[in-house]
Amino acid sequence: MHNVQHYINSTFVPSHSGETFEILTPLTNTVIGHCASGQPVDIDHAARAARNAFDSGVWSKMKVKDRAKKIRTIGDLILKHANTVAELEIEDTGIPRAQITKGAIPRAADNFYFFADQLEALRGDAYTVNDEWLNYVIYRPVGVAGLITPWNTPFMLETWKVAPALASGCTVVLKPAEWSPLSASQLCKIMQEADLPPGVFNCVHGYGESAGAPLVAHPMVNLISFTGETTTGQIIIKNGADTLKRYSMELGGKSPNIVFADVDMERAIDGALWQVYSLNGERCTAASRLFLQESIHDEFVKRLAERVKNIKVGDPNDMSTEVGPLIHHEHWARVRHYMDVAREDGATILVGGDRPADYAKGNYFLPTLITNATNNMRIAQEEVFGPVLTVMKFKDEHDAIRQANDIKYGLAGYVWTNDIERAHRVAASLECGMVWINAQNVRDLRLPFGGSKWSGIGREGGELSFKEFFMEAKSVHLPLKPAHVPRLGG
Ligand code: NDP
Repeated sequence: MHNVQHYINSTFVPSHSGETFEILTPLTNTVIGHCASGQPVDIDHAARAARNAFDSGVWSKMKVKDRAKKIRTIGDLILKHANTVAELEIEDTGIPRAQITKGAIPRAADNFYFFADQLEALRGDAYTVNDEWLNYVIYRPVGVAGLITPWNTPFMLETWKVAPALASGCTVVLKPAEWSPLSASQLCKIMQEADLPPGVFNCVHGYGESAGAPLVAHPMVNLISFTGETTTGQIIIKNGADTLKRYSMELGGKSPNIVFADVDMERAIDGALWQVYSLNGERCTAASRLFLQESIHDEFVKRLAERVKNIKVGDPNDMSTEVGPLIHHEHWARVRHYMDVAREDGATILVGGDRPADYAKGNYFLPTLITNATNNMRIAQEEVFGPVLTVMKFKDEHDAIRQANDIKYGLAGYVWTNDIERAHRVAASLECGMVWINAQNVRDLRLPFGGSKWSGIGREGGELSFKEFFMEAKSVHLPLKPAHVPRLGG
């Protein structure tokens, strides 16, 4: 049985009230432990610890070389404890082992290595004015960072925020998702082993309403980096208004994948499958709307359906499993409900649509392929966040772009075509933050990450994580000879 506690001021502590909540595993929906349930008082303790650590300068003014070394040590420790992290993440989230061990954990370590390098490479700009002025920009950490994260690939997403926040010199209060506290707890142990100064990294578990909301409203917290649902992001922006928070918002998505008739169909099928069914379909950049050019639609769907039926659903501990159980029984019910919604709107559930016959327990859901859909249907417009792909048709380039953009979300877009000019035209025309051409989602951490429209505000990644978010630009002006100062009062 796991017993997860908060981590405040380098110490593991229960909630002040003693309250806990149950941790369920999606494999069986049985209780596998208890987690401290944070309340405003716990958030207050963590925020004060982070504030004191920041104000003391022990971290924010540490020599860059030394801070970068500490950040790299965290990356090393993630790899050292990779097996433990993997076991916890599989048990807690149901993500298949192969995708955790080959994807999420190495990437989590990379997040720290990458931002250590970025820190050492950080530079400000200098401007001269007629050899009379030297004006320059320096960057300083903002202060206490509140980081609020979701349950999908939790370890990777938490480190995606924690690494740049710490590298920048900010101190941190992390609030992980209540459905996936286990790997965050291991991250706290890693921070303890890395011997960060007390208060630099803090973690308070709990429900969004009782732990997340007071973090957002806390006056000692300067910024909120949030990843989660669009509706939660809207609430957070309202709740942080009184304390004038700075925000980075990574929100929901319903991303289009446009396949033109000129492509290698087999590769496009590989891309379409991976981009929606990997990570159990619980991924923000999922290409969950597949637009096929009319002339290839029938053949593509036929071949796609065969592959979807062959996807191996099962125990996520098994290295050969391709889709594991969904995170929580409530989420399973939500995904299942969308099957009724799709049918009522007139779409066809061609493959899947329910629990696999041989899995009575756990939150298993068959990879699902929906056809005969049109872009105005709810199944084409709303984020399902499960292994569900909706297929639609388009006539030509103009029609593809029009339909792809006809949605409130704008996180990612995918285009498959061998026409290089068309590929760039479509990439430029899609209303979203990121586009992949003839490829699945492969991240380059130097590039801006984020969404437009209802998928987010702001970009993180590369220098932007520092310059646009976790650090503040300061302009310094210096005359190189006595500058003219207009006289007042004689
Ligand atoms: P939620 O918005 O439900 O929760 C995200 C986090 O916010 C959780 O820690 C949650 O706590 C917390 N929270 C909930 N209410 C509040 C509140 N009032 N104040 C402060 N914090 C609060 O998202 P999910 O966990 O369901 O994650 C799935 C969503 O995340 C999807 O929409 C997905 O698209 C999006 N996402 C976006 C990404 C991007 O980069 N754009 C990447 C990954 C996911 P609790 O767990 O207790 O509810």
